[in-house]
Amino acid sequence: MAARAGETAEKSRYFRCARCPERVFAAAGTAIPPCPNGHTEFTSRMQQARGRRA
Ligand SMILES: [Zn+2]
Repeated sequence: MAARAGETAEKSRYFRCARCPERVFAAAGTAIPPCPNGHTEFTSRMQQARGRRA
């Protein structure tokens, strides 16, 4: 599910910002930092390979 800045990361991984292309890294057990652009919502998938064609 979606994650937010300030939540604790269950595992060490990157979180991709839901509002811009930035991503942040959070180690396991540490709080997820906010996006460099000030956003606080992150998508659940680190990298999405699939896309939907319009
Ligand atoms: Zn962002």
